[in-house]
Amino acid sequence: MQFEEVKSLGEKYLFQNYGRLDVAFEYGKGMYLYDAQGKEYMDLVAGIAVCSLGYSHPKWVNAMQEQVGKLIHVSNLYHVKEQAVAAEAVASITPGNLNKTLFVNSGAEANEAALKLAVRATGRKKILSALNSFHGRTAGSLAATGQTKYQDTFQPLMNLDSFRYYDYGDAESVKKLIDKDTAALIVEPIQGEGGVRTVDPEFFKAVRDLCTDNGALMIVDEVQTGIGRTGKWFGIENFGVVPDIISMAKALGAGVPIGAISTYDDLAKVMTPGSHGTTFGGNPLVTASVKATIDIMKEEKLVENSRDTGAYLKQQIQSIDSDEIVEVRGYGLMVGTEMKTKANDFRKYCLDNGVLVNVCHGNTVRIIPPLIMGKEHCDRVVSLMRAFLNA
Ligand SMILES: *Cc1c(COP(=O)(O)O)cnc(C)c1O
Repeated sequence: MQFEEVKSLGEKYLFQNYGRLDVAFEYGKGMYLYDAQGKEYMDLVAGIAVCSLGYSHPKWVNAMQEQVGKLIHVSNLYHVKEQAVAAEAVASITPGNLNKTLFVNSGAEANEAALKLAVRATGRKKILSALNSFHGRTAGSLAATGQTKYQDTFQPLMNLDSFRYYDYGDAESVKKLIDKDTAALIVEPIQGEGGVRTVDPEFFKAVRDLCTDNGALMIVDEVQTGIGRTGKWFGIENFGVVPDIISMAKALGAGVPIGAISTYDDLAKVMTPGSHGTTFGGNPLVTASVKATIDIMKEEKLVENSRDTGAYLKQQIQSIDSDEIVEVRGYGLMVGTEMKTKANDFRKYCLDNGVLVNVCHGNTVRIIPPLIMGKEHCDRVVSLMRAFLNA
């Protein structure tokens, strides 16, 4: 099917709730996507930090094909082998003693589960979240999202009364809000949708202490930063802090829809049988993907590659001398280049030149590629940026 046909069919039958770029893909291989004409695109977006193994990784494809032919869904009425095996794999990468996992189906759902767990465990009402944060689009996760542009027209659905918003990176502002009525504080290690915003690592240490002192649970939203994205398995590990709950999703299944929260035994026990659940959550297909993804990432040292290639990319972009670049931020293969006014023009320029990059927060070029990215791919996008900026 040619592009124009895809587009008009979608316009006729799909909700028009996305602002889509004028391109559709037919298949992918490694770092590359291909359209119906066979035109190649080097992909530095990875389906929004999801396809960390690149496309059609042979070992992953094998694992999935095998699982599809055996069993894809049975529900949580029964024990599920693939789910238990995947949870063991997740425990092998989570920091501290966060070795109990609950599988759900998306990032928003993972945050919902984390918030529900915190309220049930503490019996408290208040939740602290950062301004400019993003935690998802379901009612609870949307209330946690500290950006009114996502919330405005959905107000009655959310219990905003439970939420208080602190300034990201400002421990003093957390101190003013946190108290013995606070169930939890939720925070992203790097604000992804908020523009790849990073803050002083000391902030996370201060937040950890404030949560501990007040008996509030620290929830780290690793939906975007998790599973190797930042050069560590989890973004918070860059700052030497262990939270009480980690939420994850995007890259966890390398492309299949899955989310999860991990916590320690005593906290996991709070969710007794019947207290929370999902029909699809952790079915054999998606959890077989989690196991295959983590195994492949370990074998191919993709977390180390994220760290090293990411550092190279960031340094190469930083070496570009242009007034248009305001700041280059990030850890590992999560690199944001804040531009004065031309971020969207640069995205278009890249698209015309067969390279996909993303823009977040209006002005920041976000590079969140498959974690198999090499220096040659970095060099290509950096030379595009130089050409675009005449620098
Ligand atoms: C993408 C994202 C979410 C929402 O995940 P969905 O799977 O789209 O529901 C939540 N938190 C962060 C930090 C994200 O980047």
